[in-house]
Amino acid sequence: MGGNEQNFVNNAFETNWISPLGPHVDGFEADLASYTGAKHVAALSAGTAAIHLALVLLEVGHGDEVICSSFTFSASANPIAYQGATPVFVDCELDTWNMSPEALEEAIKDRLAKGKKPKAVIDVHLYGMPSKMDEIVEICERYDIPLIEDAAEALGSRYKGKHMGTFGLMGILSFNGNKIITTGGGGALLSDNEKLIAKARFLATQARDNAPHYQHSHIGYNYRLSNISAAIGRGQMQVLDERVRLRRANYERYQGIFAKVSGIEPGPAEPEGMFSNRWLSTIRVNPAETGGLSREDIRLGLLEDNIESRPLWKPMHLQPVFEACPYYGDRSSEKLFEDGLCLPCGTNLTDEEWERIEESLENVLRGKTAVSAD
Ligand SMILES: *Cc1c(COP(=O)(O)O)cnc(C)c1O
Repeated sequence: MGGNEQNFVNNAFETNWISPLGPHVDGFEADLASYTGAKHVAALSAGTAAIHLALVLLEVGHGDEVICSSFTFSASANPIAYQGATPVFVDCELDTWNMSPEALEEAIKDRLAKGKKPKAVIDVHLYGMPSKMDEIVEICERYDIPLIEDAAEALGSRYKGKHMGTFGLMGILSFNGNKIITTGGGGALLSDNEKLIAKARFLATQARDNAPHYQHSHIGYNYRLSNISAAIGRGQMQVLDERVRLRRANYERYQGIFAKVSGIEPGPAEPEGMFSNRWLSTIRVNPAETGGLSREDIRLGLLEDNIESRPLWKPMHLQPVFEACPYYGDRSSEKLFEDGLCLPCGTNLTDEEWERIEESLENVLRGKTAVSAD
């Protein structure tokens, strides 16, 4: 927590606005709109719920196909299955680790040739890095396919000055406990289209028609954020820019640590025009250049010192639950899954913890790597 969350929560208690909804929900939505530049925002119970509602709003249904980044967390793709539709996975390119525009176009052409037009594209900004928006937006527009941006990991990231989540027809954010800011659990749907957001709010509160009794002409969901969670979110918004600064500083610190180590490369540098919140600090390890040291050697070496690290996301097209789904790309994400590692990078790392990480890394590296001379 940043400091002011407790005050906002106290206010919710004092005014007895607990749930559902309340003034902090409106306030949090307004904060998110003014921060990201999105015209309309619906605060929801999770990022996953936001993706699900986006698909419901686009009337994605049984037998439809939805294109989705393969290199991501399963929550990007699960809502496609909730709707009885089939995910079509598109692999990443290596400049950003995000959806390859070439593979996206190849996928669209091939699905069209097979007689099925994809109902939407879900493009993920992984680890906070923006995807190649000029290309992706242009392709989606040219083929007239709605774009949903999964910016769950990319709040605070920008492409040519514009916030992630505001390029597509809709964008989603997550405030899960592991994200750059948290409401304990929560998410948001962003759009410049007022009707879509109004309808999202309606569907997220059990689709209650305008009547004195409970009247329903649509299937609804219980997907709204509570006033308590929104109160936490309002406090978190005050520290968001500081969180971005700290996450970026973590990335730079690791850059310094590995600068003289051959065969270990930090996650991609920002291509021109891109600003990443550096949600997670990552590295790739090439044993051919490290003198045999592998990603697993580093992960297990850290673990021996009780320091947790984790391989990069396992691509969706390799997941047992999605293995029958169509896939397009050059298998770049498979290489990243094989040699990539997420390092400790919370915004609350203390100097003492950094020293432990650095010492542990030094020990692992000293064991096996060839450190190049200055
Ligand atoms: C966290 C995450 C989600 C889901 O958000 P929740 O709020 O946890 O439901 C979706 N996509 C990506 C890429 C994520 O990292």
